[in-house]
Amino acid sequence: MKFIDEINIKNKRLLCRFDYNVPMDENQSIVDDRRIRASLPTINYALDEGAKVIIMSHLGRPKGKVVPSLSLAPVAKRLSRLLGKEVQLISDCVGDKVEKAIEKMTPGCVIMLENLRFYKGETQNEEAFARKLGNLADIYIDDAFGNAHRSHASNVGITKFVKECAMGFLMKRELNYFKGALENPVRPFVAIIGGSKVSDKLEALGNLLGKVDKMVIGGGMAFTFLKAQGYEIGKSIFEENLVDGARRNIERARESGVKLYLPVDCVIAEAIDPKAVTKIVPIQEIDPNWMGLDIGPATIALFREVLNDAKTVVWNGPMGVFEIDAFSRGTYAMVHAIAASHALTIVGGGDTDVAVHRTGESDSITYISTGGGASLELLEGKTLPAIRALEECEEQRV
Ligand code: AMP
Repeated sequence: MKFIDEINIKNKRLLCRFDYNVPMDENQSIVDDRRIRASLPTINYALDEGAKVIIMSHLGRPKGKVVPSLSLAPVAKRLSRLLGKEVQLISDCVGDKVEKAIEKMTPGCVIMLENLRFYKGETQNEEAFARKLGNLADIYIDDAFGNAHRSHASNVGITKFVKECAMGFLMKRELNYFKGALENPVRPFVAIIGGSKVSDKLEALGNLLGKVDKMVIGGGMAFTFLKAQGYEIGKSIFEENLVDGARRNIERARESGVKLYLPVDCVIAEAIDPKAVTKIVPIQEIDPNWMGLDIGPATIALFREVLNDAKTVVWNGPMGVFEIDAFSRGTYAMVHAIAASHALTIVGGGDTDVAVHRTGESDSITYISTGGGASLELLEGKTLPAIRALEECEEQRV
């Protein structure tokens, strides 16, 4: 598999797939442009090398129809400002208009194609649509890590219809951090897994149990594990069909010498409500009609202790319902603990990433992934479909 800096891109039509699925407010103003900034190293490199840069991305879920509020216009404008150069948005992503605009391009020029998901062929990985996209390029560059776990036309299908493919610098960074941690970690290696459901993370848990020295489980998913250990968990979220699976993982950890840490106390309330009355109780004393919505202070102290000698930390999933202040302390305390540790720290995207940014600790974390779903699949030990497609494209060339 090749990276953009290993091929000749001078004067070439470089079709670059980024993940510009950025959050917008009701006025179509970008709320967080980190995904756009994350693409700058690849774009700047391509421009310095004298390529013609054609950018494509999706935004939101227009479901195969043109939805004006999901136009990439605000993204093109922001990118233009960040690059200090014009980024012309073409009002389509395939067809005459696009082909004419590309014909007029000179090296060092940037254009952006309109939202790929305005065509249903994108998410359906339709061959005809992938071929149309592929025909626009001499070389295809995939730098859309946030979308790499999807099999779509612009990141999987397209690789059959271009002469040459490579990855951009963001993809390289993401893969290097996760690969490094999972294949060759400096030990002790600690995984912290949280979030609402065990079902979403069971595969990642199983894969990580074979690699880590210590595993910390918090958030809503901890209650399925606590139930498996025989605790009464009141009305806390739990998945009955996974209690056995949780028990097997507890046994597996014991047999393989992985230390498993679960909450010892929690913040409980009768409802997920900012105004709810809360109590801090040991895990043995959860009232029958109450639910555990955050880890408690004793658990924070315990988890902090676990991180003390860690050399590699991977974290995915909040420790509680951190969107509500009353249940956010555990998650924020973990962010600070991870930021203060001397380990190489990797945070999965999605909610965990939001929590880190809210605490202002982003700069103290070694790497924050730009892709929630994609990084979770890496933790599960899977090869991402987009990466497999790039590998196959390269194999065919050799
Ligand atoms: P995930 O997408 O699986 O990482 O889950 C994130 C969500 O889990 C967040 O929206 C949290 O509010 C939620 N969550 C975390 N802890 C709990 C809990 N104890 N009970 C219910 N939901 C939780």
